[in-house]
Amino acid sequence: MILKIVKYPEPVLSQPGEPVTEFNAELRKLVADMFETTYASQGIGLAAPQVGVSKRVTTIDLSMGKDPKDKLVLINPEIIQSEGKLYEEEGCLSFPEIREKVVRAAKVSIRAQDEKGKWFEMDGDDLLARCMQHEIDHLDGMLFIFRMSGLKRDLNLRKIRKMQRDGTW
Ligand SMILES: [Zn+2]
Repeated sequence: MILKIVKYPEPVLSQPGEPVTEFNAELRKLVADMFETTYASQGIGLAAPQVGVSKRVTTIDLSMGKDPKDKLVLINPEIIQSEGKLYEEEGCLSFPEIREKVVRAAKVSIRAQDEKGKWFEMDGDDLLARCMQHEIDHLDGMLFIFRMSGLKRDLNLRKIRKMQRDGTW
């Protein structure tokens, strides 16, 4: 089922998600729906708060549905190590049409649970590292617009307000 993606400034986006404690059919359904929603929106990652569910769940697939091996479910994820810095453009499904350069660690190691509750660790670099950091930020109620420089943040907030006035947001 394709879920509705909420846009900034929907309050759920700014709230820290609740840790997942039940690894049940409801969680598996949420994960499946999140992948379906991401593909329908041509995104590479989604966090549960973006579909109005304040839980620490994110789904990532850099292949956008083309390679099942790329499907990644991170539940209760934490960054345990990061190194380097990259300043690259990114976007967010909750900020349609906004793309901006944001500084992120070049490499991260994360720890997370899978759909069955099993803990695992993995590393990511470049785009995967960026995506992991962006999605984990969502679970802390942190949005990429607040990772931009003050000037760019203000410009984009103004752009959003204009789109809201025009009814295109
Ligand atoms: Zn996002």
